[in-house]
Amino acid sequence: STQVQLASRPTGWPTAENFSIVTVELDDLAPGEVRVANDFLSVDPYMRGRMNDVKSYTPPYALGETMTGGAVGRVVASAADSVKVGDTVVHQLGWRDVAQGDAAGFRVVPVVPGVPTSAYLGVLGMTALTAYVGLLEIAGLREGDTVFVSGAAGAVGSMVGQIARLKGAGRVVGSAGTAEKVALLTDRYGFDAAFNYKDAPVMDQLAQAAPGGIDVYFDNVGGDHLEAALGAFNDGGRAALCGAISQYNATGPAAGPRNMANIVTRGLMLKGFTVGNYVQHFPAFMADMTGWLTSGQVVFDETVVDGIENSVEAFLGLMRGENTGKMVVRTTSA
Ligand code: NDP
Repeated sequence: STQVQLASRPTGWPTAENFSIVTVELDDLAPGEVRVANDFLSVDPYMRGRMNDVKSYTPPYALGETMTGGAVGRVVASAADSVKVGDTVVHQLGWRDVAQGDAAGFRVVPVVPGVPTSAYLGVLGMTALTAYVGLLEIAGLREGDTVFVSGAAGAVGSMVGQIARLKGAGRVVGSAGTAEKVALLTDRYGFDAAFNYKDAPVMDQLAQAAPGGIDVYFDNVGGDHLEAALGAFNDGGRAALCGAISQYNATGPAAGPRNMANIVTRGLMLKGFTVGNYVQHFPAFMADMTGWLTSGQVVFDETVVDGIENSVEAFLGLMRGENTGKMVVRTTSA
């Protein structure tokens, strides 16, 4: 099995030298185990945090450990009754072309006609569930709300915008880092307004895009985006704090929003969350999302990088903004 492991811990932006690509001999299957040829591997922003030797909501990777995370593949050998050869399965064993382990760690999923199995890493998986939970449970979206989402052309953000619309938002505003992405937000994902945060201060652009203020902020970015949202909030506004990708590769402490007093004077509610604590919403999410996908009410994009040996480049590219929608790696077995 070809696997990508953490070789050393980065300071600031990771480089290829922080990883090593190794070949691992697989043991024969023990009773209850399955072997899976992976089709797609997920690269995700939270993996950057796990490369640091600090406690977070997921434990750090150990040096020499294979980069674990979401992956989807097909069962090629099974010594377990619950899983058959040919089944498509989702698991958390991450950046390896062949994965093997106890069948309990592999979830058999149906193949939806017309939908690639990579969808289980995005629109039918963790990132879209994050959007769903963050918007509906954490921010408590209400009919008519004006919603602002940062990182809006990414895996989570593109779902936040579309789910907001489908669940009754009055106005949906998004920010992203290129003109192409900004165009996609309004032309394809149904946002009412969008802007490129690199063009001018977020505060100014948000004021223009949401002249009546915002009621909900879905934060993927942190920093000046969060400060701008605090400035734009109407009384009683609510924020789901999902991520702060502008800070993941920073070497010094990040500057906090300078207008925290607005939380008091406007009676705002800001709530952080990690999706792993809200998996009980998975069935409702899947029911809604499969319906929306089938009816064409939700569209999704993926950026596919070929070859497990390019996983590191895909991961770095994700943090540089080279993806639209979910970034995935396709292994040669796909
Ligand atoms: P995305 O698909 O959104 O990819 C990351 C994107 O971040 C890039 O495409 C880039 O887009 C943007 N970005 C990078 N640097 C910056 C910056 N300095 N300022 C603004 N935008 C930047 O990733 P995901 O959808 O997987 O994740 C989005 C966020 O959600 C992350 O913060 C992640 O940590 C968080 N998350 C949290 C979860 C939770 O349980 N709380 C679960 C899953 C994700 P652009 O070109 O627009 O800059």
